[in-house]
Amino acid sequence: MMDDAEIVFQVPGCTTARTFRAETTIPYSGRDPRPDGTQNNGWFDLRGRPELVSEIKEAAESPGLQAVLRELAASDSIIFSSACDRTVANIGERGPGGFHWEAGAFVVTAFADARLNRDSDNHINVAKEVWKNIAAAADWSAAPILFELTAEPLKLFFGQSDCHCLMLKALGFGHSPEQAIASMESALQLIAGSLRELADTPTEFESRFVLTVTCLNPGCQKPIPFDLEPSPGSEVPVWEDLPTKLSILCPSCGITGEYYPRQVRRGKAIPTQ
Ligand SMILES: [Zn+2]
Repeated sequence: MMDDAEIVFQVPGCTTARTFRAETTIPYSGRDPRPDGTQNNGWFDLRGRPELVSEIKEAAESPGLQAVLRELAASDSIIFSSACDRTVANIGERGPGGFHWEAGAFVVTAFADARLNRDSDNHINVAKEVWKNIAAAADWSAAPILFELTAEPLKLFFGQSDCHCLMLKALGFGHSPEQAIASMESALQLIAGSLRELADTPTEFESRFVLTVTCLNPGCQKPIPFDLEPSPGSEVPVWEDLPTKLSILCPSCGITGEYYPRQVRRGKAIPTQ
C-alpha cells in the first residue's frame, strides 16, 4: 500500500482502501503509442451501450474484463467505467502460496451522478456491496484470487474538482502465466456477477453538502459543520449553484468568518484568508 492511503477494511481475499493522491482524470484522453507498441486509447463512453464492449482494446482478450465492462455499461448501473487494463507478470517469491505468476485487471469506475462522486464514502459503500456479493458467491478453493477495491481522489471529473473514483481490481495467481490468467478471469467473473446484483440493490448514498470549516479565530479554531441548502426547485444541492463566498458564524466564539464553499479539501471548505 502507498503511504498516502488508509485501509478501510481488510478480510482474507479483499482489501478496501482509500488513497488521498489524485492520479487520474475522468474522462482521460488517449496518448501516442509507446515504444513497445502498446497504447493508452483514452476514454470510450460505453454508458448505456454494453454491445460496444468489443471496441475496448484493453479487454479484447479477456472475457472476464468484458463481462465487468458490460455490467458497468448497462443502463441501470449506478457506476460506469472510465479506464481499464490488465497485466501478467512473474512476481517470483512475492507470490502467495508459492505461485510465481500474477495476472491483474482493473477497472476505474465513477458514479454517473457527479454529485455522488464528491464523497468517497459513497465509493466505499459500493465497494462493500461489491465485496458482499463476491464473498457470498466465491468458491475460494477453485482458484487463488484476491480483490483490491480502492477509492481514489480524481484530478477532475468532467471539469469538476473534489470528485473521487472507485478502482475495482482482480488478481489471479498461478504456476504459469496461463494459470494466473485463468484465476484472474474467474475473479473478474465474480466482480461481474456482483455488479449485476448491485444494480438490483438499493444502496444508500449521500450527496455531501455538509461541510466543515475550522473557525478562523486563532484563539478558537473549533470545527464548524454546516449544511448547504438545495437551490429553489431542486431536491439536492447543486455544486455549481453554491455561492463563491459564504459567511459562517462560529457558535463557540461568536465570530463570523468568510469561506469558499466550492473549494473543499477533504470535506473542509477553504477560508478566504
Ligand atoms: Zn470560533
